[in-house]
Amino acid sequence: MQVYEAPLRDMKFVLHELHQDDGFGNLEALEEFTPDLVDAVLEEAAKVAQEVLLPLNRSGDVEGCTLENGVVRTPQGFKEAYELFREGGWCALASDPEWGGQGLPESVNKMTEEMICSANLSFSLYPGLTHGGTTAIEGYASDELKQFYLPKMVSGTWSGTMCLTESHCGTDLGMLRTKAVPQDDGSYKLTGGKIFISAGEHDLTENIIHLVLARLPDAPAGVKGISLFLVPKYLPKDDGTPGPSNGVSVAAIEHKMGLKASATCQLNFEESTGWLVGKPNKGLEAMFTMMNTERVSVGVQGLGVGEAAYQSAVWYAKDRLQGRSLSGVKNPNGPADPIIVHPDVRRMLMTMRAYNEGCRAISAWVSRALDAEKHATDPEVKQRAQDFVALMTPVVKALFTDLGFETANLAVQVYGGHGYIAESGVEQYVRDARIAMIYEGTNGIQALDLVGRKLPAHMGRYLRAFFHPVSQFIEANKGDETFGKMIEALEKAFGALQLSTATIAQKGMKDPEEGAAAATEYLRLTGLVAMAYCFAKSALIAQRKLAEGTEEAAFYKTKLTTAQFYFDRILPQATAVFLAIKAGKGSMMALEAEAF
Ligand SMILES: Cc1cc2nc3c(=O)[nH]c(=O)nc-3n(C[C@H](O)[C@H](O)[C@H](O)COP(=O)(O)OP(=O)(O)OC[C@H]3O[C@@H](n4cnc5c(N)ncnc54)[C@H](O)[C@@H]3O)c2cc1C
Repeated sequence: MQVYEAPLRDMKFVLHELHQDDGFGNLEALEEFTPDLVDAVLEEAAKVAQEVLLPLNRSGDVEGCTLENGVVRTPQGFKEAYELFREGGWCALASDPEWGGQGLPESVNKMTEEMICSANLSFSLYPGLTHGGTTAIEGYASDELKQFYLPKMVSGTWSGTMCLTESHCGTDLGMLRTKAVPQDDGSYKLTGGKIFISAGEHDLTENIIHLVLARLPDAPAGVKGISLFLVPKYLPKDDGTPGPSNGVSVAAIEHKMGLKASATCQLNFEESTGWLVGKPNKGLEAMFTMMNTERVSVGVQGLGVGEAAYQSAVWYAKDRLQGRSLSGVKNPNGPADPIIVHPDVRRMLMTMRAYNEGCRAISAWVSRALDAEKHATDPEVKQRAQDFVALMTPVVKALFTDLGFETANLAVQVYGGHGYIAESGVEQYVRDARIAMIYEGTNGIQALDLVGRKLPAHMGRYLRAFFHPVSQFIEANKGDETFGKMIEALEKAFGALQLSTATIAQKGMKDPEEGAAAATEYLRLTGLVAMAYCFAKSALIAQRKLAEGTEEAAFYKTKLTTAQFYFDRILPQATAVFLAIKAGKGSMMALEAEAF
């Protein structure tokens, strides 16, 4: 059964307690967002997620989207839910007040995104892509385009898409063929076909604003010849209402493994009118602004599904009676004990729990940096925040989505055969979670981004924004009476990460394949260390609270136990990935292609 209650206490912990000393400071621009106000927003978001979106998750999966006579319909209830969501201002949460947004801190926005993804991942894509689109328009479009399109998109009246992929090119966008021909009035006519476009066509909004990558007639070959265009589904009239159709049609909706209530479309552009966003041939730069925002959000998708899968597994583990506890009967009046008594089931539940809490802690850390990047007045803080975000974006995207999928898979295992049967609802989590490892740049590409771009950038400067706080924390807490062993384990994993960084830098300089061969494991190691740091900090805070005699002893004791489990049973993975990194590309690249 799909059950979900927003983990508000943990969200408040990571927002208000865990990262207060992260060096990103208290931002004056966000002072009005007091903890009380933030908590009130989170509580309202939880209601929307639990009461409006969750009930449509399974029915949306079963019904899916349909295409009839060129019209795409979302599953029953989606239109009403979207209207409620839009009217409640949830589309505009993190957008700039200049365009009608509420300007909420990104740290709060990411928590609400997590809730929406837990409740209904398919639904989350409709407002999610619009938000990404507004980021690119805000950053690169002309004032005229901004004034005309942003208010409608920010309010959710119009939605957005990102149209990159074509049938012959996904990762390698340099090969894309969609053409844009300049017109006398300053607009362009776009012609070409795009595939896999999320929210490409649907019945939720009165207009859809496509952000399309295309080539100008004189464009250089490859990625240096790509420009970005804004192409509305309906050409708006001067009064801002949708006008005539703009030559954008749906050839098909994709039949896919999961995410069934999200309309993934093949779109054809036939002489569609568009306007340039940013400079000619610099489209990838503008699109990457959008993609970076989206990549952190896709990471949060992984966490969201992971949390929902965990909660559904806990519910089942307490309900399902099988076998007897090895430490003595726990349910003497029943025919068997609930499966939560069994160590192997506990292993799965604790792993899921630790992954979710670890990712949530990192999510809050990175989104605090996103806020500082935008609002800090001290240039040094701003720079550090930018560096940290740049470094951690691929880590959040790939780590969270890998772990989200693993967590969903564990949920099926907790349910046994019933998990494999659709009625249980948990196999949907596996199918839904799987795509997050692929879109917005596959996780393999995220790892290459980390190793190939982020590590060497500015002579390793990005890394310092991560390494400094970790090494300072280790120095300050080494030999701690209670947590000495934990800090020692963190120091060892951190040492392995430092050594791996040096090895990759050295070997990669001589042979780029060496860096690429180590990339996925290096990203995992970075994630494991980041989680270890967050858990060690959490443990210290929890211990202090317990010593002070907090009224919330149960929460802090549980946090301590989860942290201990992470160090006992998950951080040891760091040794394995370290050894894999050290092994280099040798056996991985040795065989000729014919030998496969
Ligand atoms: C449900 C769904 C929704 C989507 N939504 C959108 C959307 O809204 N807009 C949009 O534009 N696209 C969208 N996509 C497309 C998605 O972003 C691409 O599928 C993804 O980027 C991978 O491209 P590809 O499928 O062509 O795989 P390929 O690029 O062919 O990659 C295949 C494999 O090769 C690996 N690979 C490729 N190149 C390299 C390299 N240089 N080094 C190492 N490994 C490499 C990849 O990691 C992958 O494992 C969506 C896809 C799906 C399935």
